[in-house]
Amino acid sequence: MINYGDAIDIINAELSKIEKRTEIVDLLDSLGRILAKDVFSDIDQPPFNNSAMDGIAVKFNSNIKSWAVLGEISAGNFEEYNIDENSCVRIMTGGKIPVNADTVIPIELISDDGDVITLLDDMSIKRNQHIREKASDLHIGMLAIKQDTQIKSNHIPMLATCGVGKVTVYSRLKIGLLVTGDELVEISEKPEGDKIRASNLYTLILAIKEAGHIPVSFGLVGDDRSLTEEKIITALNSDIDIFITTGGVSVGKYDFIKEILQQNDIDEKFWSVNIKPGKPVFFGTYKHNNKHKLVFGLPGNPVSSFVTFLVFVKYTLDKYYNINSNNIVRAELTSDLNKKDGKRHFSRGMLYKKDEQYFVVDSGSHSSGDMAGLSNANCLIVIKEERISPKKGEKIECIVI
Ligand code: AMP
Ligand code: MG
Repeated sequence: MINYGDAIDIINAELSKIEKRTEIVDLLDSLGRILAKDVFSDIDQPPFNNSAMDGIAVKFNSNIKSWAVLGEISAGNFEEYNIDENSCVRIMTGGKIPVNADTVIPIELISDDGDVITLLDDMSIKRNQHIREKASDLHIGMLAIKQDTQIKSNHIPMLATCGVGKVTVYSRLKIGLLVTGDELVEISEKPEGDKIRASNLYTLILAIKEAGHIPVSFGLVGDDRSLTEEKIITALNSDIDIFITTGGVSVGKYDFIKEILQQNDIDEKFWSVNIKPGKPVFFGTYKHNNKHKLVFGLPGNPVSSFVTFLVFVKYTLDKYYNINSNNIVRAELTSDLNKKDGKRHFSRGMLYKKDEQYFVVDSGSHSSGDMAGLSNANCLIVIKEERISPKKGEKIECIVI
């Protein structure tokens, strides 16, 4: 059994051997994707000196307080005017500044009698005020957005201004899923007798999508060794990058996932991690057609498979693809927690904020089958290996889910 941190180091090392493929997507389909190339500006930004206000454009002279109006420049309708210190043009926000002008006076500071504009009493102006200078944002050829940035809506103005209608991004990984257990039925069925619905399949399909990758379902298989082996081989040799099984990876009589993986050229990296829930996690790698694939055997309990997906698979993928999930919060415990062992616990909790301070309420149940507890939680409380029964009022790290 290894500690969580060591398990993460092992996964990171293997993940880094997966090639980051790239593809080109429309800008309108690029939200959440990761830029695979630096984006450079193909124009100066702004492309010309322009007015930041509605007002008049003048050639600055601190002694002059009124100007003859030569004409008007609105945004997108430039006409050159040769103004001198005694003349001006009306200008609108975004209008290009005429050749001799160096200063914009906002409309609020002037009186306008049609032919002559006068600065109101007590109003002062400064040379160069209210002009957005050409290339003051970016020079042509300068880096606009760097590679490895996750595209969010705030990046769109820059991408669109740079004329990037198509974006080169990293391809999503294809993640295969197989859920195992004789007790499982499709969720469309009403489970009879000793059967249960295969909730894990849906949980993980959607968790993979949420993480920005592509789920590939290989469905359910009962605890039949040869059928399971057949499905696993098919999945491993299909066009996937990562393969995840759930169930059958512990030490029960019908837990033969680990054995099947070991006997089918999976290079085992670890099995069993010092955590709760989810201790019997298997991790290995597989080579197929020169492709380096990762294989995770996650436990079958719904909470365990959800938690282990988050803390092993999603956590490392986010890091590899530079996705800043911003999901770690330090919060104050509202009650004592009971933890006597040296494992790392991921307990379900409810975070809330009061007076700029986060607090976390332990959700109570620590059963790995407690789906109600999971759906009432909004975070995982991380109680590290060496920490024993943290007390009310102590600060603790929480992973927002
Ligand atoms: P296992 O890891 O196969 O020993 O299963 C542990 C527990 O998780 C058992 O109670 C199973 O019935 C349950 N379980 C296994 N697979 C699933 C699944 N796909 N969906 C929901 N529960 C499952
Ligand atoms: Mg099972």
